[in-house]
Amino acid sequence: MIVPFLDLVSQFHEIRDEVMPQLVEALESGDFVRGKSVEAFEADFAQYLDATDCVGVGNGTDALELALRALNLPEGGEVVVPANSFIATSEAVSNVGLRVRFCDVDESYTMDPRSLLSNIQAQSVAVIPVHLYGQPADMPTIMEIAQRAGLKVVEDCAQAHGASVDGKKVGTIGNAGTFSFYPGKNLGAYGDGGAVVTNDPGLSERVRRLGNHGRSSKFDHEFEGRNSRLDAIQARILRIKLRHLDTWTDRRNRVAELYRRGLDGVGDLALPPTVPGTSHAFHLFVVRTRSRDALREHLSARGVASGIHYPVALPELQAYRGRHNEAVPNSRGWAEQLLSLPIGDQLTDEQVTYVVDGVRAFYAVPSSRGD
Ligand SMILES: *Cc1c(COP(=O)(O)O)cnc(C)c1O
Repeated sequence: MIVPFLDLVSQFHEIRDEVMPQLVEALESGDFVRGKSVEAFEADFAQYLDATDCVGVGNGTDALELALRALNLPEGGEVVVPANSFIATSEAVSNVGLRVRFCDVDESYTMDPRSLLSNIQAQSVAVIPVHLYGQPADMPTIMEIAQRAGLKVVEDCAQAHGASVDGKKVGTIGNAGTFSFYPGKNLGAYGDGGAVVTNDPGLSERVRRLGNHGRSSKFDHEFEGRNSRLDAIQARILRIKLRHLDTWTDRRNRVAELYRRGLDGVGDLALPPTVPGTSHAFHLFVVRTRSRDALREHLSARGVASGIHYPVALPELQAYRGRHNEAVPNSRGWAEQLLSLPIGDQLTDEQVTYVVDGVRAFYAVPSSRGD
């Protein structure tokens, strides 16, 4: 059996009949960048999250950059970001002229609030909790720390569309939330896309202008911005997919539950923890084992694809190496133990059982069938 890591084509076939007429309508409308369908998606997504404002932008990295710029943070200020994330999180900080400071993650793989606290300095201006793998960060604690230290909070929600903390969707808790609609994300376009979400109308207006050349009207530019806009075709696709998102997230969470049942207590595997008060939107199902590379090989030989998120902690990347001495033992130590098993809205129970049995066989534990 072949179990792909990600299957975007099957998902397209599921919604083909909804997608095709929208593509034709988009082409026939002559509306290509921004416009009515982008506004409609922004309204839908804001409503879905229960936020007042949503601004569609070019991609998730731009969303982070634009949110940081719109916050008008003092130049040279430091922004605390978790050391276990995709480089976009820290890259955005540097690209807007701020300085990166790394903190560690805890067992949930998200920002460890104690590490955040110990990394706050006089020059700290903001913090970017990342809801990594779909697991919401500990927002109640992080917000409390940030408020006491006077830090702005930008939530990186690129992997956690629809996840929530105490019933509040991620992206609506800090000053702003940023989303990526890269095709492989839980809510993915058929190209690049992103959004900034906020309940602060002044902030959303600044993001909108910054991403549209600082434009206040067609020929008036209040300040210099840049070009980072969502296009109409992607907005139409996203509107369709948003209607399926909760069903797809339920499916992902069901796959995670099957993994949990089949793999609990197997070998030295550490399964993702369940964090009380949070509702996960499993973007990735990440386990930890000291035999990571051998297990990966074993699965690959059986047709099961897997991934590593991320093989190198951010401060160890060539881009940062030698310039950061923050203590991030979990992020550094776990990087060589992390393994992402296939998870997605198109995975069948049969495929999941096949993966489970492949992992069990690696540890010489009998098949889960007939349990
Ligand atoms: C994907 C991702 C981004 C960047 O999104 P793009 O749309 O690819 O620019 C940012 N942060 C995290 C955690 C991501 O996974």
